Amino acid sequence: MSIPSSSTIGSTVLGYPRIGPDRELKRATESYWAGRTDASALRDVAAGLRRDTWTGLRDAGLGSVPGNTFSFYDHVGDTALAVGAVPERFARVTDPLERLFAMARGRTGAPACEMTKWFDTNYHYLVPEVGPDTRLAPGSRKALDEFCEALRSGITTRPVLVGPVTFLLLSKPAGGAPAGFRPLDLLGPLVEVYRDLLAELAEAGAEWVQLDEPAFAADRTPEEVAALRRAYDRLASATRRPKILVASYFGELGPALPALAATAVEGLALDLVAGATDLDALDAGDPAVPGLDRKVVLAGVVDGRNVWRTDLDRALATAQRLVGVAGRVEVSTSCSLLHVPYDLTAETALPGDVVDMLAFARQKVTEVVLLGRALREGPDAVAAELDAARAVRERVAATARRDERVRSRLDALGPDHYRRSHGDVRATVQRAALGLPVVPTTTIGSFPQTAQIRRDRAAHRSGVIDTGTYAERMRQEIVRVVRLQEDIGLDVLVHGEPERNDMVQYFAEHLDGFATTEHGWVQSYGSRCVRPPILHSDVSRPRPITVEWARFAQSLSDALVKGMLTGPVTILAWSFVRDDQPLGDTARQVGLALRDEVGDLEAAGIRIIQVDEPALRELLPLHDRDRPAYLDWAVDAFRLAVGAVADATQIHTHLCYSEFGEVVGAIDGLDADVTTVEAARSRMEVLADLGPGVPRGLGPGVYDVHSPEVPGTDELVDQLGAALRQIGPDRLWANPDCGLKTRGEAETVAALTNLVAAARRVRDSA
Ligand code: GLN
Ligand code: ZN
Repeated sequence: MSIPSSSTIGSTVLGYPRIGPDRELKRATESYWAGRTDASALRDVAAGLRRDTWTGLRDAGLGSVPGNTFSFYDHVGDTALAVGAVPERFARVTDPLERLFAMARGRTGAPACEMTKWFDTNYHYLVPEVGPDTRLAPGSRKALDEFCEALRSGITTRPVLVGPVTFLLLSKPAGGAPAGFRPLDLLGPLVEVYRDLLAELAEAGAEWVQLDEPAFAADRTPEEVAALRRAYDRLASATRRPKILVASYFGELGPALPALAATAVEGLALDLVAGATDLDALDAGDPAVPGLDRKVVLAGVVDGRNVWRTDLDRALATAQRLVGVAGRVEVSTSCSLLHVPYDLTAETALPGDVVDMLAFARQKVTEVVLLGRALREGPDAVAAELDAARAVRERVAATARRDERVRSRLDALGPDHYRRSHGDVRATVQRAALGLPVVPTTTIGSFPQTAQIRRDRAAHRSGVIDTGTYAERMRQEIVRVVRLQEDIGLDVLVHGEPERNDMVQYFAEHLDGFATTEHGWVQSYGSRCVRPPILHSDVSRPRPITVEWARFAQSLSDALVKGMLTGPVTILAWSFVRDDQPLGDTARQVGLALRDEVGDLEAAGIRIIQVDEPALRELLPLHDRDRPAYLDWAVDAFRLAVGAVADATQIHTHLCYSEFGEVVGAIDGLDADVTTVEAARSRMEVLADLGPGVPRGLGPGVYDVHSPEVPGTDELVDQLGAALRQIGPDRLWANPDCGLKTRGEAETVAALTNLVAAARRVRDSA
């Protein structure tokens, strides 16, 4: 059965960046928060950005323009406000904008909502809180208002909302909810609220609405899939509603695909980049997925998560596989373009051969439009464009993404390159060689980044001060930080990382195979943006990176100074990574480059080297079945980086979280001599898993670095005591939860002074 073209949707994107091509929204928001401008100034900037997005997408030739993709902070928070899921503590805040900001940033007496990662991306959303008392009802009218606003500029948008099932699967039980309450229990009433919202949108003239259900790209129980089916049966049964497009992304739908296909919704958007296996299900039966032949299926063949140019021939072939299976096929991105920068043409400093590899949001829209035409009118209609794109791809294929030296070095590695002697042997050697006291004190690496350091870095970048002057200023800062630590009495010192803008970007700037952008900002959360480096070719280290800084720091003190590196998994997690080879191969290349750095640090007399892997758990695949393979290569890459050092050289690692669960085995696999983790807020609970699971040195953080409060010595003694009850004194380290770069100087000195006092007290009684 085919669908009359009047009811279809046209090629589209599932969402678009919203922070502004020049981060206009960030600046406007922060200036509003600081009280420098008022709400109407902020609203003006927002309206301008929305208008530019809508008209830009329409003029580029999309058949359907998504609406409600704008947010002042976060789209999950917006959805909570739209359905009345407002935590009790914010009920007093009546202005919708202020309410969103209060949920995001907290107020006196009303702590902020928790924030967590949006699936396996680097975007963070506000975690909704719902309980049996949550009064679900249509709340903020944002989706409707923005729909009408777009209509006034002549554009009928397709409002996008987080779907009801995903919304509840991402929610947590509100404080005070009875044990056993599950947010999904509220699905019935929530769906009624969505029916009301859809009715309002239909009334205003909306033809389509997009409901996002990415939660079904992760492993889901049959019960959850059944709930999805029920929810969309109910939504589809409404008489007054726009056509419904259910969008899933970040993986395949698996069992949720037939469930959705069986409902009466009009459209499904499939991620055919991360979820290409859904296509195989379509080939399997006759018909493989009953109901699909009555729907518009959006083939998500342009990767919304990454910055690589699309192989248009392949993408077209993929979309064509749906023809005849689906009622109608249209082209889209695999997910929202929220996760990529705006526009490649804003970059003026990227080498031409790298530019050839790339497509940012604006370029991806062009790809979607082109593929849409090719699908509708046949490839011949756009032959010239397809040929041109093919020529660029051939140019890329012929450029040196490969570095044979790196490849032959990797090929020559055997198991011994990943292995050190047994941890107990190393511990004995290190005890004699390093001469550290029981419960040694240390920090995680960075010291407060003063305004002066940031100014110096900016001045250096813009050429106002030369490299020599800059280096001299950084050395002065290192001298200051080393003296400070000596005065405080810490046992293992750090140089403080003043020369690093960011723990990943810094290494990307010094390794071959990476490019960095000038304007490639991507929203991380709220007004916070990051500029992920682009890992495009084989990785190697042309020359030592951190060695001179470490050597200099060590030369200043008789105490041991830790070398400080970022690990391979974290470098990958916070970059855009080439997709033309398995991630594990790329990780090993980074591991090998770091191995060179580790070797040079050791040769320069650095006897303790820390390799940070805060993102180890972050990159964990959404599906259980993919996890063991991921953890294998993650562990391998780390071990490759540190596997060549002598027994006497102590390897530390640092992980930024406190729930380990299934990664305990992998942390043990890293085989670091000392592992520091976040632990203060959970009061050393982590040691229940880590104590037995990682039988080497452990530094559970004794105070939370996210708070400016100075922990008292007694409190720190308590924390160390709680740790000592779980692991013996010979394995315990005393350190903060994480790096100190966002803290103020005075509070840092006070906190570390108390930390040293607490460790000494514990030491005397141990
Ligand atoms: N060494 C880094 C620092 O102290 C670690 C940061 C992190 O764990 N995210 O800043
Ligand atoms: Zn950390």
